[in-house]
Amino acid sequence: MKKVVKFGGSSLASAEQFKKAARIIRADKTRLYVVPSAPGKRFSSDTKVTDMLYSCYGAAIREKNFTEQLHAIKTRYQEIIDGLKLSISLEKEFQIIGENFGKKAGRDYAASRGEYLNGKIMAAYLGFEFIDAAEVVRFHEDRTFDDETTNELMAARLNESTGAVIPGFYGAMEDGTIVTFSRGGSDITGSLVALAVHADLYENWTDVSGFLIADPRIVQNPKAIETITYKELRELSYMGASVLHEDAIFPVRKAGIPINIRNTNKPEDKGTLIVEGTCRQPKYTITGIAGTDGFVSITVEKAMMNSEVGFCRKVLQVFEENEISIEHTPSGIDTMTIFVHKDVFEEKEQQVIAGIHKAVHPDHIDLESDLALIAVVGRGMKATRGTAGRIFSSLAHAHINVKMIDQGSSELNIIVGVRHDDFKNAIRALYEIFVETRI
Ligand code: ADP
Ligand code: ASP
Ligand code: MG
Repeated sequence: MKKVVKFGGSSLASAEQFKKAARIIRADKTRLYVVPSAPGKRFSSDTKVTDMLYSCYGAAIREKNFTEQLHAIKTRYQEIIDGLKLSISLEKEFQIIGENFGKKAGRDYAASRGEYLNGKIMAAYLGFEFIDAAEVVRFHEDRTFDDETTNELMAARLNESTGAVIPGFYGAMEDGTIVTFSRGGSDITGSLVALAVHADLYENWTDVSGFLIADPRIVQNPKAIETITYKELRELSYMGASVLHEDAIFPVRKAGIPINIRNTNKPEDKGTLIVEGTCRQPKYTITGIAGTDGFVSITVEKAMMNSEVGFCRKVLQVFEENEISIEHTPSGIDTMTIFVHKDVFEEKEQQVIAGIHKAVHPDHIDLESDLALIAVVGRGMKATRGTAGRIFSSLAHAHINVKMIDQGSSELNIIVGVRHDDFKNAIRALYEIFVETRI
């Protein structure tokens, strides 16, 4: 039995948190591979070390004095080292980092030092071997991730180790240039390690007791999901439930390794098990609810649109030519609506409208901004009648106007579009009807 354990930023934000993580690791001898994030927030107004590094490097790039900022980062680590009563010194490391910042070694290099240094401390505290992710996580020259080489390098290096710490979030090109994944990317490293060592389980330790049915910042004390499938999780992650980086799913899914989301502050809780498939019936009709803000809808209206062959293609082509990806396209007899991300659309708005006019000569084009999309996801929906009806009635009850509803053909999710101002209330209303009242 082999387990890979990844600890998120808040789980390693202070010496106290490090002690909790170490207790968890030592409690189970099969927890052999540890992937740490950089120290996160200790309290809500605190700054993550990764953000401190980005800002410090920003000063270096602008030729400003960054000594003080780098010193503040060093202090964060020194407090952890002192709190753990370790005798290691990061003096030399910080000297090198300072020099490299001066030489403008790159934004990714800068950010990666957060996990690198935390890994050094974690290895010293546990008495585990430290393996630099730059040696085992490989990126191509165009900065895309090289999964094959990574798996080969990792498998060869890790299988000869019994107890190793591999920092999350970054890797390197063949020439040693450091590259990071996108934010939250330590989850991906954990997944890659699990794949390379053929782990039985990938435990992802964070600050919540699993994947919760709804965002805890919107719904008070939401219940945790016991078991969720990769497919359901992907739908929820894509729509903004940010517990686990969405790309962290692919490597382990391929190998059939389950992920267990656990709470470092409540190790007695079982958390959420993420699996390929399960015969376990979910407790509620739905598995989870997630949503994202910041969409625009473009409604194109033309009488007899339905009988005009190629109409939809011509409209969609305008978006393609402007490199705008489309989220949803509900349509009526004489109307077609396209949902897109506001931040991408905004700057190309006039070009797109002109393009549509030219392509299909519509009677009318209507824009609506400040929309939010909410996904109601659940493998149990397929077997239950009336789910869409319940969604509508709960939102109507909460005086929320539904702008769009779209049921995926897999019957795994239903997407609802609402106004930005109704976003949070809509999520609360949906949670209420499916979880609290459970009718
Ligand atoms: P870590 O630093 O451990 O990687 P993250 O901040 O990336 O942790 O992810 C955990 C956070 O995700 C939680 O603290 C919570 O605020 C947020 N979150 C958003 N949606 C959900 C959800 N559905 N279930 C659990 N947590 C959620
Ligand atoms: N430290 C990085 C971030 O803040 C990566 C991670 O935490 O997974 O995004
Ligand atoms: Mg995270």
